[in-house]
Amino acid sequence: MSEDLIINESKIFTDPSLFGVVNAIRAVKYLVFHHTGCQNPDRAIGMYQQYGVSAHYLIDQKGVIFRLVIDNNIAYHAGVSNWRGVESLNQNSIGIELLSPNPHQDGFSDDQIKSLITLCQELISTYNIFPQNIVGHSDIAYDLNTRYLNRKQDPSHLFPWARLAKAGIGLFPDQISIKQPDSILFKIGDRNPDIIKVRDVLAKIGYHVKQAVDKYDEGLAKAIRCFNRHYNPELFVKDPDKSEAENYSLPLSGAAFQLWSSSLQKLNDLMQTIATNHNNSSNQIIFEPIIPKLHSQNPKSDYHPALIFAVSAAGLLLVVLLACFLWKSYNKTTNSVTPYENLSKITADRSKPISAIAAK
Ligand SMILES: [Zn+2]
Repeated sequence: MSEDLIINESKIFTDPSLFGVVNAIRAVKYLVFHHTGCQNPDRAIGMYQQYGVSAHYLIDQKGVIFRLVIDNNIAYHAGVSNWRGVESLNQNSIGIELLSPNPHQDGFSDDQIKSLITLCQELISTYNIFPQNIVGHSDIAYDLNTRYLNRKQDPSHLFPWARLAKAGIGLFPDQISIKQPDSILFKIGDRNPDIIKVRDVLAKIGYHVKQAVDKYDEGLAKAIRCFNRHYNPELFVKDPDKSEAENYSLPLSGAAFQLWSSSLQKLNDLMQTIATNHNNSSNQIIFEPIIPKLHSQNPKSDYHPALIFAVSAAGLLLVVLLACFLWKSYNKTTNSVTPYENLSKITADRSKPISAIAAK
């Protein structure tokens, strides 16, 4: 154990209804970060007891780390969750709770983050946890009915992911070199083939999203909000998280629900970082960055293909009918120029025997 790491064992849980005892050695593969909107550890623990939940560690604002559940047992912190296709992360994760009276406004204290970094470095080396498996509760928690992400908003957009990545904890793309004016690429209701690519990259990173759908729907908007909360937190200045209840009723038109050019840049850079990390192993990832085609420059019909076919077929039929009509009119016109005398002559000729005509 690191010399700097001091763990306070005074608040360890004894109530067996708050954690699952594992008798064999538990495989720990994920770290999950949370926040609770209060300052006092005992009040937070009181809330845990009330809701029947728990975390392995709790870090207060002074940087004191309390152990609540031993690493080998299961703490009930993640709930309905999915990351990189794996369901229910409680089984194989360690949950770390940060206390903050106003996590969405004030974030976390420096002492708290220093303690968190020391604790994570210890856990990563003990359990050999991959950077891609270090996540926030918001990245993994989805709604059981809709199956959409954004069930949880912790840790807030003020959680210092970039600082942790510099200390070897988790992944964060390098600072983006070109700072261009930001613009919205995709918003709710848009259709574009690039949306399929965005979904594909989100799923490769680990987010629980439907794939092979070219529409920017509610499920994707919520997944993008979780991605933005983690990787593009500047958007939350315009569109802050409040309470969980309020977030459920937020209009999907909010800034952080949309895919901005800065979001896409971070998505590309993060995927590139993952691909580079994987290139050391046999499981090589080849990643081509998504080059956005603005939806306004590349409008795509929102109509069903069957409707488009029916309209095209009707149009073709109309053209054919018009052609027939014109052909008939043309023939009529040709006949009408036949002189009456000739017409009557032919009629007269037909009344005669064939031999008589031939003789003429
Ligand atoms: Zn949480």
